[in-house]
Amino acid sequence: MKAILVRQFGGPEVLKLEEVPTPKHGAGQVLVRIYAAGVNPYDTYMRTGTYAQKPPLPYTPGSDGAGVVEAVGEGVTKVKKGDRLYTAKTVTGAYAEYALALEEQVHPLPAKISFSQGAGVWVPYGTAYHALFHSAKAHASETVLVHGASGGVGSASVQMARAMGLTVLGTAGTTKGLDLVKHEGAHQVFDHSKAGYQEEIMKATGGRGVDIILEMLANVNLAHDLKLLAIRGRVIVIGNRGEVTINARELMARRGSIRAFTLWGITPAEEADIHAGLIAGLENGTLRPVVGKELPLAEAARAHRETLEPGALGKIVLIP
Ligand code: NAP
Repeated sequence: MKAILVRQFGGPEVLKLEEVPTPKHGAGQVLVRIYAAGVNPYDTYMRTGTYAQKPPLPYTPGSDGAGVVEAVGEGVTKVKKGDRLYTAKTVTGAYAEYALALEEQVHPLPAKISFSQGAGVWVPYGTAYHALFHSAKAHASETVLVHGASGGVGSASVQMARAMGLTVLGTAGTTKGLDLVKHEGAHQVFDHSKAGYQEEIMKATGGRGVDIILEMLANVNLAHDLKLLAIRGRVIVIGNRGEVTINARELMARRGSIRAFTLWGITPAEEADIHAGLIAGLENGTLRPVVGKELPLAEAARAHRETLEPGALGKIVLIP
């Protein structure tokens, strides 16, 4: 089969398409024919070798795949040959024609969700769900600012928050991104590339501030986020690419809090909760993964470059 292999850590050019043996499934494992693989920012951090998660070399990237069960190992009862599914982590990597996954890493993909959309479920929607429900403990009557709403996690968060009744404010840095955020359900949108947009956000809340901020770029925004919080507001740090200085008095004055997590650190019970919620939302149409670009598997290096460029429009997926 064809797969992307990383033989040394480095820039996007270390992602090479190679011919490798198709993995063999063992007991408790599922062999998946991958029809689409989602590209997440953490895939790019991991590839550099400087991320907290450092896989042994060589490795095939990708936790988020969607496809069809090719074969199941002894003891697997959750899925059978031919079932459509999405993966939430894999054993051998999703940037490939076939991937091995543990039975607990595969989840049914509702018929109305395409494989490309299915490749955009786990990390983006799992993160959005954990941020809104487990971390922020959001209530329907609250206002959320999705700070960076045009990408994978942001567009998922907008759909989810809107479906649960919150007032949703979203930001993006391009006209197309702003249109996407509005289309996915934000009540109001703001351009985070324009000076003074934070004042517009404050004005939109009538000076009260927002209850929740889902923050995609904390190193740039955290200090100012604290000034946008309502009383008992909370900032949920989802993305961060550097250091930041804050004035804790902004938090004290608002009895506010900053919470943060990585999806790697969640408990099995939280993960079960997430999949139950996501599958229901995918089935009933409230969750509709946005695929901005499909690229052939051979163009994984381009996908990694473009994932880190401004102008996000939902997900970039690779098609093996
Ligand atoms: P993505 O699809 O590449 O989207 C990035 C988003 O950040 C876009 O909406 C982009 O908007 C926005 N952005 C750019 N500049 C910004 C600014 N100055 N202020 C606010 N937003 C800005 O990435 P993603 O998959 O949504 O992930 C978002 C971040 O969360 C990444 O850093 C990722 O590593 C992290 N993440 C963390 C976890 C976790 O477990 N904690 C899980 C998933 C993702 P424009 O392109 O329109 O400017």
